[in-house]
Amino acid sequence: MFESMLKIKYDDATIKTKRKEVREGLWRESENINSATIDCISPLDLRLLYLHYDKIFLKNWFRDNFKGHVLYELSRRMTKSAGKTKCPRNIAQMEAEDIRIIIAIGVDFFFKYDQLAGSKNVCGIETHNSLEALQIVFEHELVHVLEFLLFHTSSCNKQRFKDTAKNLFGHTHSHHHIPTNQTVAREKYGINIGDKVQFVFEDQLLTGLIVNITKRATVMVKSLDGVYVDKNGTKYMKYYVPLERLAKTR
Ligand SMILES: [Zn+2]
Repeated sequence: MFESMLKIKYDDATIKTKRKEVREGLWRESENINSATIDCISPLDLRLLYLHYDKIFLKNWFRDNFKGHVLYELSRRMTKSAGKTKCPRNIAQMEAEDIRIIIAIGVDFFFKYDQLAGSKNVCGIETHNSLEALQIVFEHELVHVLEFLLFHTSSCNKQRFKDTAKNLFGHTHSHHHIPTNQTVAREKYGINIGDKVQFVFEDQLLTGLIVNITKRATVMVKSLDGVYVDKNGTKYMKYYVPLERLAKTR
């Protein structure tokens, strides 16, 4: 039955065992991942995860029912969420074989996993290493894929999603609390967007305001030669500064 997999319900112990089986399958077959720490990953690794999840958790539902394709993207630019599932808008009108659903994973979340102390909760589950965090993010995205295929729409804020994610994978929340660049900046360096900071650039001590934090901080520094002008006519130069080179000031 097409929707049969929505009736699957595993208890917590079973989920833990199955998650471990998935992990061991990945270790056997991946060229990049052979421990609990992710420092290298390719789209093929996500494909392996998909195949193992299908077999171990979903009773081969994808293999037996889905005629389209899941594609995988790794991104270094996703700063707000660790995973995202993209589905064609006209999925309802598409031929089954033509459907392409993309799972995008923001790799920085996992590469930076160990930089932050404290608890790292993903979808309501306390994680202990970056591979476990990736698995749970991937599980969340798989529920999106299932919903898109079955209902042509998916929202992790809705009850239907929450029920499926809970029954299949034991997720109790839709959102993750693993560190972003901004929380790393805040916790490790004590800096936030809006802070006034100093840094040395070409032997000059400059003072400016942080307007964004990605891998580096974007700092706007007042300058008569600046090309950025605010509404009061003040001119600024923009600098991208590694976080460890910033000092907070008043
Ligand atoms: Zn979601």
